[in-house]
Amino acid sequence: MPDTTTTLQVLKDAMAHFVAERDWEQFHSPKNLAMGLSVEAAELMEHFLWIDNDASRRVTQDAGKLGAVADEMADVACYLLALSNTLGIDLSEAIVAKLAKNARKYPAELSRGRYQKPEPGTQ
Ligand SMILES: [Mg+2]
Repeated sequence: MPDTTTTLQVLKDAMAHFVAERDWEQFHSPKNLAMGLSVEAAELMEHFLWIDNDASRRVTQDAGKLGAVADEMADVACYLLALSNTLGIDLSEAIVAKLAKNARKYPAELSRGRYQKPEPGTQ
């Protein structure tokens, strides 16, 4: 099921099925899911802790490390899918809306090659 042919709805449905089969809805409060997502994000970051930027980019050259990183990314995504299911949030619409908001916040002509937010009044 590659990204190019798998919709978010298919993944949300798969997550909902996984949760329902185990009767885990009772544990899936927004609070617990948000906290679980954060824990999994920390597990993802642990793979890059104490190494420099170049070493973090070289993770793609180590199949074992890349697989472990992909595993943690999937954990983060699964919690995000479960949270969107629990809250009834359309994740695609939320992502598109946020990208549009960020495009206004970080205009390309003022933000290209810079990581800082443009100064107020320069927009
Ligand atoms: Mg994990």
